[in-house]
Amino acid sequence: MSNMKVRFAPSPTGPFHIGGARSALFNWLLARKEEGSFVLRIEDTDLARSTRESEENIKASLKWLGMNWDEGVDVGGDNGPYRQTERLDLYKEVIERLLAEDKAYECFCTAEELDAVRQEQMDRGETPKYNGHCSHLTEEEKEKYRAEGRKSTIRLRVPLNKTYAFDDMVRGHVSFESNGVGDFVIVKSDGIPVYNFAVVMDDHMMKITHVIRAEEHLSNTPRQMAIYEALGWNIPIFGHISLILGKDYKKMSKRHGATSVEQYKQLGYLPEALVNFLALLGWAPEGEEEFFTQEELIQAFSMDRVAKNPAVFDIDKLNHINFHYMKQLSDEEIFHLCLPHLKEVGLVPDSMNQADIDWLTLLCTTFRDHISFGAQIKDHVGLFLGDTVFLEEGHEEELKSVLSEVTVPTVLKAFKNQLVAMEEVTPENVKAAIKAVMKETSLKGKFVFMPIRVALTGQMHGPDLNNIVTLLGKEACVHRLDTYANLIK
Ligand code: GLU
Repeated sequence: MSNMKVRFAPSPTGPFHIGGARSALFNWLLARKEEGSFVLRIEDTDLARSTRESEENIKASLKWLGMNWDEGVDVGGDNGPYRQTERLDLYKEVIERLLAEDKAYECFCTAEELDAVRQEQMDRGETPKYNGHCSHLTEEEKEKYRAEGRKSTIRLRVPLNKTYAFDDMVRGHVSFESNGVGDFVIVKSDGIPVYNFAVVMDDHMMKITHVIRAEEHLSNTPRQMAIYEALGWNIPIFGHISLILGKDYKKMSKRHGATSVEQYKQLGYLPEALVNFLALLGWAPEGEEEFFTQEELIQAFSMDRVAKNPAVFDIDKLNHINFHYMKQLSDEEIFHLCLPHLKEVGLVPDSMNQADIDWLTLLCTTFRDHISFGAQIKDHVGLFLGDTVFLEEGHEEELKSVLSEVTVPTVLKAFKNQLVAMEEVTPENVKAAIKAVMKETSLKGKFVFMPIRVALTGQMHGPDLNNIVTLLGKEACVHRLDTYANLIK
């Protein structure tokens, strides 16, 4: 075990975004690779927006993706509690110390007063920052404000003319000037520390060595450094990973499709595929390989191959990776992956018997090479929903010409007779029946397969015809063979 300690510190304020999952993954991979430890801390100080439901969803998603944590909520550890709202007493001591050392002060300005100052500064073309109104209040002035019923926040004294510089694991050397920062609020008037303050106290108390998080927190880092400095604590090593963009190079949002881990799970993606895909969002392996098991990722991962430029979320690549992992599933696993989606289209009876399970399993395995994720099965089951055959759009003329061949009535009749006489419709029996039709009519492959496929499905191509006939069943096939002429009218 090394002393590397990383953490994932989500705010439980909504669905667990894939960007969050990617941050968690990079931390987790680094911890596993370096044999360090991975902490899960819940940053729930935004009382209005934080929910237990969201926390549960984050934890369930992490577990589903195979990211276990060594220390943190639910599992405990030496540095708990791991939910910020349960750490308020621990924070109090630090706040009192900063006040006692005059490194922080109480501010009684109201929101309206602050707004007015901000407006004046902007009117003068300045970048707004706190004007220091309360930075040197006497005890009497403070008492007067309290007597007026004003609530106070606590602000950190940020030194002027200082450069906050650090070497970021991803972005290299980064520096910020303190003059733009201003004395900022570290504790809100309800006594709850703001994110920038709580995160520093927790990372320090939890002995975090490396902070890997989203690029959007880069601009928070100078504030956090000012806090570390005021407290005389060492800063951890930072690594800010780039944004995830949609294919149009705009920030990934709902417009681009599913954005939460849960949505991908519900769509029938596999966790190992999502992990593989997320790892490649910003990290580049040394070789050309694109498929990595979790163990291979741990071995191959390194922060120095994490890119500075934004990662582009390419759904086609995710589908390609998912397809690869789906190939490794058993028939039964494919059935379970597709089942919720087959339920949605009404193909699953309320209580399934063995025959239903066998039928649905055959359906899923027949189409398994045609789908990249579970929900895509819905695009292929139209054939089994109702009696009417529709000619595939855009191919009507081609399909009609197949059915207009002079040999077609003979072929379809012969096949119908075979079916009627068949004791049990199985892929093997259908195969034998088609062979028999070929023999009987002296026609070769295409002239037998094609009209049967088109009459039954309205499509020129598709998966194994023996399976399709079996899935449709005797009655539906006979009906379609009897009425195929309607298709060429
Ligand atoms: N709670 C913050 C977030 O969810 C964590 C930022 C950090 O890792 O410092 O964005």
